Amino acid sequence: MSEKTDNRKTDMLVENHPLNQIKRTVAVLSGKGGVGKSLITALLAVYMQRTGKYRVGVMDADITGPSIPKLFGADDFRPKATDQGMFPVRTHSDIQLMSINLLLESPDAPVLWRGPLLGNVIKQFWNEVIWGDLDFMFLDMPPGTGDVPLTVFQSLPLDGIIIVASPQELVSMIVKKAINMAQMMSIPIIGLIENMSHTVCPHCGKEIALFGESHTEDVAKQFNIPFLGKMPIDPDLARLSDEGHIERIHKYYLNDALAALEKMPVHGGISYAERECAELEQKESIRNEENNNEQKENMNSEDKIMRIAVAAEAGVVSQHFGHCEGFTIVDVQDNKPVKEEFLANPGHKPGLLPKLLHEKKVNVVIAGGMGGGAIELFNENCIDVITGAEGEVAAVIDQYLAGDLVSSGSVCHEHSHSDSCGGH
Ligand code: ADP
Repeated sequence: MSEKTDNRKTDMLVENHPLNQIKRTVAVLSGKGGVGKSLITALLAVYMQRTGKYRVGVMDADITGPSIPKLFGADDFRPKATDQGMFPVRTHSDIQLMSINLLLESPDAPVLWRGPLLGNVIKQFWNEVIWGDLDFMFLDMPPGTGDVPLTVFQSLPLDGIIIVASPQELVSMIVKKAINMAQMMSIPIIGLIENMSHTVCPHCGKEIALFGESHTEDVAKQFNIPFLGKMPIDPDLARLSDEGHIERIHKYYLNDALAALEKMPVHGGISYAERECAELEQKESIRNEENNNEQKENMNSEDKIMRIAVAAEAGVVSQHFGHCEGFTIVDVQDNKPVKEEFLANPGHKPGLLPKLLHEKKVNVVIAGGMGGGAIELFNENCIDVITGAEGEVAAVIDQYLAGDLVSSGSVCHEHSHSDSCGGH
């Protein structure tokens, strides 16, 4: 949450239900009724839910003119009451809804309560309704900037406000009042949306500004709040609203508003983008740790194994390391041979065999004779070299393991030899 929000007077705030974890609470506000505040609240919820990333709820805080259930075709749905509290209804796309209309015998019954009672209902929607975990809760606010919305502002820990205005309103006055209210409560304004900005001619596609030139964007600039786009009058929207099928909207409006909402910090925490980053970092560090552990395990098991390569020729130790037939490679564990394989000599080129045996993770090389260059290369890679060995390979290995094989240290100087290493 921003520093600003933390400074809010908290003495009037209502505790949330203990089972609720609501990450972002966004109030949708307008200067007067009929500008599309409820429709925009519903659309924001529908689009957010459609991302599949968020759990979304809508609280119909417009107690005297509740229209949220109708938009979702949920007028006949009834919340389930339990000892713990009341569960909101779930729409067709699984958005959670709570509205006074869902509790009244008939949705047409007028709600004639006054301020304090209305305020109480909203508080109950917060602390007696089990919303569970929500990423976004949208509040369809009572219209205007008077006492009733003020009670809501004072009662609930709101994280942001979206202002909806139409071009024919005195937008600057409404925005000013909304900003004053938001500042009083230290609630950030997410931005201003202009609804009914124009309509599109169904024949020629031309935009027609029904209410004349709009100044909403200029007002947003003047008050230094983000302008979150214009929504046209769209007969499809009116029809879907009337039919209770707002979730079937197939056009994508309000993209800027959705982007601004996604950047909002989580109540008392971090924004979605930051959370994603943190999750990625966490995954990365888990992966690194797993890799490290795996490496350690490999190292440990390899640490325990000593690998001996004996230059061999028909089962006996070759006197010519470079020209041997191949290498008998023996893995030794707990001083006992556990595995043996034969690696044919790929050919004698300077430096080739020491490199090959190093890659094979050999620790000790045993031969009759070896050139000085090869010995040096082995030493550089911390591979022990034993020269001067002779006899059967198996017996030489046993000798080595018994600690009886001592290197003569002799070096073959005629490295381009044919058989000049003899006598080591
Ligand atoms: P408010 O919540 O501000 O009182 P509503 O959202 O109930 O306003 O909208 C009033 C009426 O106008 C509704 O019938 C709604 O479907 C219609 N309406 C609002 N905005 C649009 C729009 N952009 N295009 C078509 N109809 C709209």
